[in-house]
Amino acid sequence: LTKQTLANIAAQEPDLQAYLAMNEAAVEQAEAVDAAGIDPDNVLSGMPVAIKDNLVTTNMPTTAASKMLENFHSLFNATVVEKLQAAGAIIVGKTNLDEFAMGSSTEKSAYQTTKNPWDLTTVPGGSSGGSAATVSAGQVLASLGSDTGGSIRQPASFTGVVGMKPTYGRVSRWGLIAFGSSFDQVGPFTRTVKDNAYLLNAIAGHDDHDATSSDQEVPDFTAHLNDGVQGMRIALPKEYLGDGIAPAVKDAIRAAAKQYEDLGATVETVSLPHAKYGVMAYYALASSEASSNLERFDGIRYGYRSPEAKNLEDLYVQTRSTGFGNEVKRRIMLGTFALSAGSFDKYFKKAAQIRTLIIEDFQKVFQDHDLIMGPTAPTKAFQIGSESTDPTEMYVNDVMTIPVNLAGLPGMSLPAGFSDGLPIGMQLIGKPFAESTLYQAGHAFE
Ligand code: GLN
Repeated sequence: LTKQTLANIAAQEPDLQAYLAMNEAAVEQAEAVDAAGIDPDNVLSGMPVAIKDNLVTTNMPTTAASKMLENFHSLFNATVVEKLQAAGAIIVGKTNLDEFAMGSSTEKSAYQTTKNPWDLTTVPGGSSGGSAATVSAGQVLASLGSDTGGSIRQPASFTGVVGMKPTYGRVSRWGLIAFGSSFDQVGPFTRTVKDNAYLLNAIAGHDDHDATSSDQEVPDFTAHLNDGVQGMRIALPKEYLGDGIAPAVKDAIRAAAKQYEDLGATVETVSLPHAKYGVMAYYALASSEASSNLERFDGIRYGYRSPEAKNLEDLYVQTRSTGFGNEVKRRIMLGTFALSAGSFDKYFKKAAQIRTLIIEDFQKVFQDHDLIMGPTAPTKAFQIGSESTDPTEMYVNDVMTIPVNLAGLPGMSLPAGFSDGLPIGMQLIGKPFAESTLYQAGHAFE
């Protein structure tokens, strides 16, 4: 299986460009699993899996798709990598992303642009575009991505696969290169909801290395897959079917709502009145966190160092000026500005207040609903290069995913239809730690 997977990847890679590094020891590791005997009760035993290249690994380089981390090798593995390997999974390679996970198209990688397997002239979404594309193309059954503002769900939507962003704290962030530490979560891409639940089973749980990982009990996420949605109370926010959402996307979500009603659930229109401020609040807060997280890339401790530097200060300046791409520099400047003495109250604090209002919007809806449904992204996959002039065009891709990260809730995207031959995703949003409910409702729908 591993050999066949590697052959498939090699055959399609010239078109897709989903991988930044391959695991040279994959076949050897798979043979070791074979020799030990495949565990029939463990679906991950001997299973090829891909991981996003912002998860650190010892046996492959980790670049976060940045020149800043060219040839960087970590001294340790991310906790999720350790967990996958302990379950017998074979990590075949590291997938492409927008540099430091900042973007929605995978065009912001310093190395290559990953293509959407459904139409090679369109983007696979981002920032976890490589992880989405490789599952969508049928190369692996599962991969891991990370989601700070939509980076698992939006590419899942664009490539017609299932993508779960777990509750903040559900999965350890140890070894995930930090972008916005109060938002970041690791989660799985798969072709089916059931496979996704298996993956989350393997990676969830408290980790002493990550103080923000929760010690909430980890259930078997496959346990309620077949329970159906009879009696489930589903909320459909009216803001999620408003202006700016493509008609085909709205139609697909209305059809999904009808399907849920036919299956015995109730679907009620609700309001998330502050959701519209989410993108603005997110860019102030996530960029602020990014500006301090990215301070460590100074040309001394990790990866790339500018060869031009004349003295220490010049080393910092030259390394950071040439090592980071424009989008990353934009975020660092925005975040530094939002955190500066003169603008802290006006931007950072305001954004934090909006974050609280958005959390309260969700709490209100969850008082009498089990889950929220809506689109994942406003449109189907767009053409490569079509959203590269004005950065804010790209930012609105996440208008419906960002509020979920601001509130730390679990969110899943699953295929819900097509528009002109390209997939459209539906997003299910749950109460904190209610991933099982999302899998249950997702499985009933697919
Ligand atoms: N597209 C959003 C951004 O550029 C979200 C990225 C992510 O979730 N990592 O920040």
